[in-house]
Amino acid sequence: MISVSRLLRDKPETGDHVRYSGKSNPYPLVLVFNVTRNCNLRCVHCYSNSGTRSYQDLPLDTWLRAVRQAADMGVKHILLSGGEPLMRRDLHLIAKEAHDYGIRVELSTNGTMITEERISEIKNYIDYVGVSLDGPKEIHDKVRGVEGAFERALEGLKVAKKFGLKTGLRMTLTRLNYAHVDEVFRIMKENDIDRICFYHLAYAGRADASLDIPNSERLKVVEKIADYAKNTDFEVLTADNPVDGILLYKMTRSPTVYELLKRNGGNKSGERIADVSPEGIIYPDQFTPIPIGIIENLKEPWDKPHPLVAKLRDRKKYVKCSSCPFFEVCNGGLRARAYAVTGDFWERDPSCYLDEIQKKYG
Ligand code: SF4
Repeated sequence: MISVSRLLRDKPETGDHVRYSGKSNPYPLVLVFNVTRNCNLRCVHCYSNSGTRSYQDLPLDTWLRAVRQAADMGVKHILLSGGEPLMRRDLHLIAKEAHDYGIRVELSTNGTMITEERISEIKNYIDYVGVSLDGPKEIHDKVRGVEGAFERALEGLKVAKKFGLKTGLRMTLTRLNYAHVDEVFRIMKENDIDRICFYHLAYAGRADASLDIPNSERLKVVEKIADYAKNTDFEVLTADNPVDGILLYKMTRSPTVYELLKRNGGNKSGERIADVSPEGIIYPDQFTPIPIGIIENLKEPWDKPHPLVAKLRDRKKYVKCSSCPFFEVCNGGLRARAYAVTGDFWERDPSCYLDEIQKKYG
């Protein structure tokens, strides 16, 4: 994740201690807990292929034990995701356990199930509510597969704000919505939202490469996001494509920006971040379909380590673009995309737009 506003405005942001610590840790600092596969929407780009209402979730105790193991590993952030995490009636209990162990808890939700009752029971245990929004009403409802999803998402976000929670939008860039970034920034301003994060599409679940934007357009849209980030008060981030950092460096030529990117180190799937699926399978991130462990033994993939974790820790040896001059700030992008498109986990990330950047900025 790259904080565009942090790099362009040089203003410290929440999460800097994880993003720019420059330290390597034996275990991930961030864990995504996909606590359910149930969801009330059916989004075209859902990475976890969620959408049913009858999936049998893992019991509460399993997740509470996972939280305790995470605390023991020194995990700093747990991201509660799904499916739609609010489909679990006991979500607040998982959040409370993490909060009580001093872990920062973030909720990643489609927003449509946020009510005063649900927020009242969880608000003391979560630090941030990220609501997915994929564009203005017509676009959002089309992407989310449900009429009225846009209004309900914004309504949910307003409820979270009313209860004093820090709120943000999450927009996944696809060919269906990338032309609507201006409208999303307008929605940010009109609703006084604290933060926005733009996700590059990862090819997993129902999302495949045919839904993505060409790299020439990727360059233009990230330039636009950067221009907005310079002139807004709220935090602006991008995720799942560390090449954005190279673009910001080329736009600014700032040694400070480069130094921060170097400390961040680019993609850290399986190292700084990992994912636990609704079935309790551990993966290097939310998108890589290669299991590395099970929830009952959260530490094992890093203690042993699992062969894929060992390779990811030493990925310069394996990633095929490792001779790139920017490898130290990118780390080869998202392996899951390379794997989805080529079947080779170590191929060049197809969303790398370094060639487009160099054509324009030298
Ligand atoms: S060639 Fe590889 S390391 Fe270089 S910017 Fe692209 S993905 Fe990153």
